Amino acid sequence: MNQNVVLITGDGIGPEITSSVCTIFKEAGVPISWIEAPAGLRAYEDTGNPLPEETLNLIKEHKIALKAPLTTPVGKGFRSANVTLRQTLDLYANVRPVKSLPGVQTAYPDVDIVTFRENTQGLYIGHERVIDPDNVELIGLITRKASERIIRAACEYATKYNLKKVTLGHKANILKESTGLFLKIGYEVAKEYPKVEFSDMIIDNMAMQLVMRPQQFDVIVTTNLFGDIMSDLASGLVGGLGVTPGANIGENYAVFEAVHGSAPDIAGQNKANPTALLFSALMMLRHLDMNEHYERIHAAALKTLADTEVRTADLGGKGTTASFTEALCRNL
Ligand code: NAD
Repeated sequence: MNQNVVLITGDGIGPEITSSVCTIFKEAGVPISWIEAPAGLRAYEDTGNPLPEETLNLIKEHKIALKAPLTTPVGKGFRSANVTLRQTLDLYANVRPVKSLPGVQTAYPDVDIVTFRENTQGLYIGHERVIDPDNVELIGLITRKASERIIRAACEYATKYNLKKVTLGHKANILKESTGLFLKIGYEVAKEYPKVEFSDMIIDNMAMQLVMRPQQFDVIVTTNLFGDIMSDLASGLVGGLGVTPGANIGENYAVFEAVHGSAPDIAGQNKANPTALLFSALMMLRHLDMNEHYERIHAAALKTLADTEVRTADLGGKGTTASFTEALCRNL
């Protein structure tokens, strides 16, 4: 029987890259039935709601979704549907792996890092209070519950995949109470995982270390905003946003999505790299234990990416979204 997966085609380059992933999955014979659901700017324009109730209910029913990026107006307009989705479904772990790709030239050939970003709290709770036109107060939230479960998820992952180190990123020298609590809980949780080499790093130093010596990291765990920034930085070490996948995982639901946004500058031009969304969909296959399909598509993706002619322009190639997809299907 086919696995049902809710598919959000999203905004900007979303429809082009979701179409690419669906074509590849169909060609590879992956037993998935896609159930399309609206969200984002297009949904807002059509229904007045960037995250319609119908979409939330479909994810609650089928438990798994693949989501293309959604456009969120900057500095005004509706609240991010992404943030609402993560908070409503309690998708507490944002997992973002970056791994050097064969043939994709970057500063280092051997980067392999997974960032675990706390996904429900920190400065993303959206408590901004305008005191007057020139003064705004921003409130962040750190709780024991949310800290424990994200740090535990990072340590579990390191244990499952035999990874040596977990490094916790924080700013407890300045934000002593909030990220200080996150740091303290880190060392408490780490005691449960004696095989994991657990350490911490102040986040600004971590940014520099990532650029200078990224090989020292296996798993990074950090709070919401730091995790967002560090994982984009890490993505730049392996070829950029076009190749970096992500997963939002909770107790009951999982939503897989690329790290990148809706890239309005290249939308509708057949230029988008579908790899990041494809790799997110591959994380979903592993989550669903569809390992044979995972292996086959992953191998074809690596082979296709190694061909400099076929790659999309963000990786220095001449390929389009469509020609890259066709080449990948031939390599299956
Ligand atoms: P962006 O990730 O959309 O684009 C940044 C740069 O990377 C652009 O030059 C873009 O062309 C390029 N890029 C991104 N993905 C690419 C791909 N697959 N192939 C080739 N090039 C790619 O970031 P932004 O411009 O800051 O944000 C645009 C919109 O996306 C905003 O509305 C923002 O809120 C939204 N956004 C959504 C998500 C999400 O849905 N998860 C994440 C980040 C940003």
